[in-house]
Amino acid sequence: MSYPYQVKTADQYKAAYEKSVNDPEGFWGEVASGFYWRKKWDKVLEWDFKQPTIKWFAGGKLNITENCLDRHLDTLGNTPAIIWESNDPEEHHRILTYRDLHTKVMQFANVLKNNGVKKGDRVCIYMGMVPELAVAVLACARIGAIHSVIFGGFSAQSIADRLQDAKAEFVVTCDGAFRGNKEIPLKGVIDDALVQCPFVKRVIVLTRTRTPVSMIKGRDVWWEDEIRIVETQGSPECAAEEMDAEDMLFILYTSGSTGKPKGVVHTCGGYMVYTNYSFVNVFQYQPGDVHFCTADIGWITGHSYIVYGPLSAGATSLMFEGIPTWPNAGRFWDIVDKFNVNVLYTAPTAIRSLMGFGLDPLKGHSLDSLKVLGTVGEPINEEAWHWYDEHIGKKKCPIVDTWWQTETGGILISNLAGVTPAKPAHATLPLPGVQPILVDENGKEVTGNSVSGNLCIKFPWPGMLRTTYGDHERCRLNYFATYENLYFTGDGCLRDEDGNYRITGRVDDVLNVSGHRIGTAEVENAINMHAGVVESAVVGYPHDIKGQGIYAFVIYQGTHGDDTLARQDITKTVSRIIGAIAKPDKIQFVSGLPKTRSGKIMRRILRKIAEGEVDKLGDTSTLLDPAVVEEIKNGRL
Ligand code: ATP
Ligand code: MG
Repeated sequence: MSYPYQVKTADQYKAAYEKSVNDPEGFWGEVASGFYWRKKWDKVLEWDFKQPTIKWFAGGKLNITENCLDRHLDTLGNTPAIIWESNDPEEHHRILTYRDLHTKVMQFANVLKNNGVKKGDRVCIYMGMVPELAVAVLACARIGAIHSVIFGGFSAQSIADRLQDAKAEFVVTCDGAFRGNKEIPLKGVIDDALVQCPFVKRVIVLTRTRTPVSMIKGRDVWWEDEIRIVETQGSPECAAEEMDAEDMLFILYTSGSTGKPKGVVHTCGGYMVYTNYSFVNVFQYQPGDVHFCTADIGWITGHSYIVYGPLSAGATSLMFEGIPTWPNAGRFWDIVDKFNVNVLYTAPTAIRSLMGFGLDPLKGHSLDSLKVLGTVGEPINEEAWHWYDEHIGKKKCPIVDTWWQTETGGILISNLAGVTPAKPAHATLPLPGVQPILVDENGKEVTGNSVSGNLCIKFPWPGMLRTTYGDHERCRLNYFATYENLYFTGDGCLRDEDGNYRITGRVDDVLNVSGHRIGTAEVENAINMHAGVVESAVVGYPHDIKGQGIYAFVIYQGTHGDDTLARQDITKTVSRIIGAIAKPDKIQFVSGLPKTRSGKIMRRILRKIAEGEVDKLGDTSTLLDPAVVEEIKNGRL
């Protein structure tokens, strides 16, 4: 594969950037010409941020799997598409070549069809990090079904909410998943979720842990049995469904500032072009490189930089089932050496947690194959950046600090490895095609350098979200209504003296815990479901490993047991409702919450208390009952 649109020097970056701004349609039309389209588009871009309506490559016909698989068969048929490393280092790894993956995707696409899945149907995928997860995702895309992958850490309640929102009638899952020394009973969680979702017609279950599971006649079938059925049916082919560029490819749920997760919708054409473009440019991928993105496919990072970006580029994508610290903190480094990984893309939270183990786990590892390092998900602090640079990259690997979101589909702001300069803790410059702008509270543009503001984007890019599933108005209100004619990211940002962007964190009520977005309202709703809880308020506070920890202030009137037990009960409730990722790190019982006369909780004050800045509470005179602040301050955990 060659990538004619890969910029290789700082000058080429500048030229590409200028062209992308002066002639966006010409620019993206050229990039898109490098893909396989059944029919060329009529118009590169139509847009209106008011509605919003965003159409890229309208009238174009394609199937993304023909671009990720079929078109590589002649040249890359025997090249590894996916290298899979098991959770357990003793278990043999697996390699799927492009030909293997193509065959498996067609087989499973036929399984989906046999089970009644049609174009446009929503299929929920709740699996561990096994190659069949990627197969299931691509098989949906093959037949035009819309996948909705749910991270394996979410609870039955969260799954039920998402199944109902997407009206998904099909589920693909595993009996269980291995993660470190844990075994997660995925099918059991699905069974619990389905109590609330009688509309689900079929559950296809892959065996992985072979833990006993209930299999309901007429609803649940085994993956392996279904494959055997299609194998005896003759043709192994499954023609790719012809999709419109703007047909939905997938839904991925993400947290916002209200309690209910939003189903972010991405479409076939623009998402394909953008994930591929950003992949080959940011990481400067060279044919033959082994790309190791440590995210889970349950998150956007896994969708874009384990599956669609790398595979559409004919790359070798390494998929890891386990966690960085099991059986020991050298697990990533074992994998890097074992497969001669060239690009390592991970999260600051993982780096900070590995830093905590010191340098011992690095002993005996050469890490010589590494060429490029990347981070994503949250701001990276300088200490972690330097540790990554010195001890992992040995000061010879550019680090790309990639800023983006579920909604953006792909990386928007990042240095390009070895092409544009890195600056510790700065995402640096926008990719060609991306037009960031900083605005103040009133939406007025903040111009010049050495300034800060709310980060918005003023022009569409192909990978941006099109809507939120089933509720377009919500999409408009969330992203396009805050500032006129701008896409609002929800992030605060600095622009330094050289024009480099540095993301400072969310400006809305969204937490970033270990790189995962969690809405404060979501956690509060879950806490409030506990029988003894009267009211609660949740804020973030700085956490050494997770970036942000969850601090909950709770008015509690339960009578069973002591405070410690009550805290454990509340934590259990949150795990049940959302999942373990949303468990509060600290729960402080209070007799009241600081409220304004109009009844609004003053989160600003609670945030300061949680952060330990109790002497910087600012003006509290507008509070209904200022005395409550003293009590909360004194009881701080
Ligand atoms: P994942 O869901 O896989 O964790 P993600 O972190 O890219 O992927 P979101 O969960 O949508 O996607 O989170 C996006 C938010 O994460 C951004 O709005 C920003 O607050 C934060 N973020 C992501 N990347 C960076 C980065 N490089 N620097 C600073 N903040 C980042
Ligand atoms: Mg994240």
